[in-house]
Amino acid sequence: MKCINKECPCPKTECPRQKQCCLCVINHKNTDSMPFCLFPDNGGDKGLENFYRKLKKRFEGPAKDTGIKK
Ligand code: SF4
Repeated sequence: MKCINKECPCPKTECPRQKQCCLCVINHKNTDSMPFCLFPDNGGDKGLENFYRKLKKRFEGPAKDTGIKK
């Protein structure tokens, strides 16, 4: 499968999936995380829990009790 993106912004240059969006999506789907390009301000954690916390903070303001450990 070819899905080359010459403008991949992911800084992880050692990743074998770099510049291949279709492989990134499969990898991150299987690891419950987000591709870097969709979650660049991840603070070193591309996990879905962190993504959810960031979205919640963005759209609802400071954290309320979500039941998710920080
Ligand atoms: S987003 Fe993930 S899979 Fe894609 S190049 Fe970066 S580290 Fe690799």
